[in-house]
Amino acid sequence: MVVIAFIGLGNMGLPMASNLIKGGHRILGVDLLPANQSAARAAGVEVMSSVAAAAAQADAVITMLPAGAHVRAVYVGEDGAMNHAKPGTLFIDSSTIDVETSRSLAALGDAKGFLMLDAPVSGGVGGAAAGTLTFMAGGTAEAFERASPLLGLMGKTIVHAGAAGAGQAAKICNNMILGISMIAVSEAFCLADHVGLDRRKLFEIAAQSSGQCWSLTSYCPVPDLVPTSPANRAYKAGFAADMMLKDLKLAQQAAHASGATTPLGAAAAALYQLFSASGRGDMDFSAIVKMLQGRDHGI
Ligand code: NAD
Repeated sequence: MVVIAFIGLGNMGLPMASNLIKGGHRILGVDLLPANQSAARAAGVEVMSSVAAAAAQADAVITMLPAGAHVRAVYVGEDGAMNHAKPGTLFIDSSTIDVETSRSLAALGDAKGFLMLDAPVSGGVGGAAAGTLTFMAGGTAEAFERASPLLGLMGKTIVHAGAAGAGQAAKICNNMILGISMIAVSEAFCLADHVGLDRRKLFEIAAQSSGQCWSLTSYCPVPDLVPTSPANRAYKAGFAADMMLKDLKLAQQAAHASGATTPLGAAAAALYQLFSASGRGDMDFSAIVKMLQGRDHGI
């Protein structure tokens, strides 16, 4: 049994922690929100009052927090885990955060004798509940090896992407493809409408042609073509547009810092910013098609 301090028991964190409990591990959980603390208690988490208290007793510290600033505060803030954890503690950050923060925290952790792994996920709340997440991990082989049995209880596909920060890099590259491809598919359906091409025919043809992609065949942005699409459920998220915007901004931040040329990534970020500013950021990200159609989008 591994004693795990699990920090951040929100939409993703709690179902992930629940799968670790089912796997026989002990979870010392911390969250700021009383409602999330109660839900965690009901799921068998031992809710602690501080990060320091949880980290001091833990063999591993897992974080599932909104952004880099939260992870930094939890790792090295006043009550920070790195100031209280035992030497050799394994730190796994599964939040989606910026590559630079991830790398700098990994370097700090290395210097203090901890094993550091960034391991962001894809698969959403459904994947977290089912234990079928994809983990993209960055860190040393030793950290990856120690983390793998735990990641295996929460996910189905676990890839060691490279050194510290490589997991975050993989995540933002993947989601930049996703954001751009969702807009591309949405534009194609808008064009089909304008030129009088039946949507179902476009789907049948593109799904078997070089336009085929996940945004088309698994998550089609127009209704009645793919049963699993949020388009069939009034675009209830799914993966919220604001979350897509967050990841596209992280991709742009990394592109600026590294000098990569990503003009379509920049355009996708701008379009999701516009969509979010129209008050629809909580809708599924595939609802961007409504803005491109120019009707029924609330602006
Ligand atoms: P969430 O807002 O539901 O959960 C985050 C939790 O962290 C909240 O409960 C909050 O109270 C807690 N928290 C914040 N600061 C804290 C602190 N200092 N100490 C303790 N707890 C603190 O968010 P989520 O949907 O679970 O997402 C978490 C991360 O996973 C994000 O980085 C997100 O980008 C990533 N992610 C989410 C999804 C998804 O579909 N929701 C999919 C892939 C990746």
